[in-house]
Amino acid sequence: MILCSVIAIILSAVFVNMAVRNTFNKYMLDNQNQRNARIVEYFQEIYKRDRNWNIDSGREIMHEAYMSSYCITLLDSNKKLIWGMNPENLKDTKHSIMMNKDNGVYSSNIFEIKLENKIVGYLEIGQYSPILLSQSDINFQMSINKSIIISVILAIIVSIIISIIISKQFSKPIKAFSDISVKLSKGDYSVSINDKSSIIEINKLMNSINVLRDKLQMQDKIRKRLVSDISHEIRTPLNILQNNIEAMIDGIFPVSEERLNYLNDEVIRFSKLLNNLNTLNEFEDEKIDLKFSIINLSKLINSISKEFYIDLNKKNLKIHFQFNRLKSFCIVGDRDKIKQVFINIISNAIKFSKSHGNIWINIYEKREKILVTIKDDGIGIKEEDLPYIFERLYRGDKSRNEIKGSGIGLTIVKRILLLHSAEITVESTVNKETEFKLIFNKVNIQ
Ligand code: ADP
Repeated sequence: MILCSVIAIILSAVFVNMAVRNTFNKYMLDNQNQRNARIVEYFQEIYKRDRNWNIDSGREIMHEAYMSSYCITLLDSNKKLIWGMNPENLKDTKHSIMMNKDNGVYSSNIFEIKLENKIVGYLEIGQYSPILLSQSDINFQMSINKSIIISVILAIIVSIIISIIISKQFSKPIKAFSDISVKLSKGDYSVSINDKSSIIEINKLMNSINVLRDKLQMQDKIRKRLVSDISHEIRTPLNILQNNIEAMIDGIFPVSEERLNYLNDEVIRFSKLLNNLNTLNEFEDEKIDLKFSIINLSKLINSISKEFYIDLNKKNLKIHFQFNRLKSFCIVGDRDKIKQVFINIISNAIKFSKSHGNIWINIYEKREKILVTIKDDGIGIKEEDLPYIFERLYRGDKSRNEIKGSGIGLTIVKRILLLHSAEITVESTVNKETEFKLIFNKVNIQ
């Protein structure tokens, strides 16, 4: 920044200096031309008055010429010398200072002196430089240059100060970001940046880093939970199997059908867990092959809710299914996968409902979208859990401790909906209600 501003300031100073010098020289040349015209006019007046030339004609101008460092020679109409100044004498005068690259080379111009359109004489005006500058002219030029140099120095100082202030504004938060990323990479999630910066981009970066920290922290929590959950889920059926089989070998338990069925249930639970993990893996790897067809959502949801008849009865739950029966709510999608979506959400609604609860399913249209809401008046989801329920293996505390599950149902739902360009949102109040809203693209069937 400093380098750029110094270059810019120096360049503009050079340009300003050149522009001032050119304008000044032009102004001086104009002055000189006016002076020459005035002198020629003066001699015309003298001839008009005397009607001829003599050795003293206009001599009084010599003093001014010496003082201003130019040389005058008067010639008659036949170019015969009447009087003239010696250019050599000018060299000693210090009244005017010659400048320009042609410094020291004497040059002159001849002007005609006319009276009534007849040439009556010639006037040669010469000088040692194309532009003559007096001491005050030189002083004027020097004071301009001095002002330019002072303003350049001031501008450079100001730009250095501003550059340092601005770069500090960037470097301070960037240093904080780099410290935080080092801490995050070491697994320290207690760090956060809460400073406010006047730079919008820095503020955005700060927010992103805080979000990143929350995500990493949550992922870390989920990973730790995953290991403990999986080992717990695996250990429990294995322990039960081992203890029961050992007891049967030792003859403590009789080998009865009921006991074998119980052990079989544990094996089934065990393999279900592995199947779930496998399904998740399939979705994560995007190996999924979708078979698209037109699906009538009201028919599909109706048939799914019938499949839950036993579970609903067990908990005395009621499903209220509302949609306009005159309309067909059709979407394009993979029937099995969309079925999986509703099975997962409805089974969650049943699982997390208290007995004698209600589940409301609504289907309706809004612009080019079909919306399905599935609401229950069950245990609800804590506000801090809400952003994470679609994460892999995330389970709310309650469901972790009391209600069985694997924490991948909603992850699969989200993945399937993403593959169908559909969206899902959730709103919930603890111990009151939970509502999932699914938004599909509508298909118009003639
Ligand atoms: P799980 O196998 O635990 O049900 P999901 O991925 O289906 O896994 O759900 C993740 C978490 O979201 C659940 O553990 C639970 O805490 C919460 N959740 C999902 N649906 C509901 C609901 N209808 N009511 C309350 N909590 C819910």
